[in-house]
Amino acid sequence: MDFYPIAIEKLIEEFAKLPGIGYKTAQRLTIHVLNLPGEEVKEFAEALIKARGTIKYCSICGNFTDSDPCAVCSNPNRDKSTICVVEQPKDIIAIEKVKEFNGVYHVLHGNISPMAGRGPEDIKLKELIRRINGEVKEVIVATNPNIEGEATAMYISKVLKPLEVKVTRIAHGIPVGGDLEYADEVTLAKAIEGRKEI
Ligand SMILES: [Zn+2]
Repeated sequence: MDFYPIAIEKLIEEFAKLPGIGYKTAQRLTIHVLNLPGEEVKEFAEALIKARGTIKYCSICGNFTDSDPCAVCSNPNRDKSTICVVEQPKDIIAIEKVKEFNGVYHVLHGNISPMAGRGPEDIKLKELIRRINGEVKEVIVATNPNIEGEATAMYISKVLKPLEVKVTRIAHGIPVGGDLEYADEVTLAKAIEGRKEI
């Protein structure tokens, strides 16, 4: 399409690469940016570059952090004997908001999906197994309650069993097929409370 000057087309193209953004939304975002004061656009661009340049993954849990280990892993008041396993960093935010969980986390950065050809080697599972030492008493699997999340939970349970660690799964409250990110705080607190051994 060449209705727009090249610089505008380029910006639309970049927005359209973002997850969940189609061409029309990209177009709307571009027009929005073009109407912003120059100073705000500069701040936006700098925020992008700064975030990408300073944020890395925690070498212990895999969460986003600007200092390694992250704030949770390096906090002496967090209970290192309980590891809550999640699919994505955004799931940690959801659980932290509930303020009920005082253990530490492990981010898998994905899930196992035989349908999509994603196996155990495509997620941070080896890293989780490496963390299981005598100190860890329980692993709470808080993957999403959908087919992939359940398959991942089952697999984790299977590989951790021989390591003599209790493996539990968040159970009640989260609707099947739902997304952890969208669960309300009460539901999520209940789900953690009502976890079952798997
Ligand atoms: Zn960490």
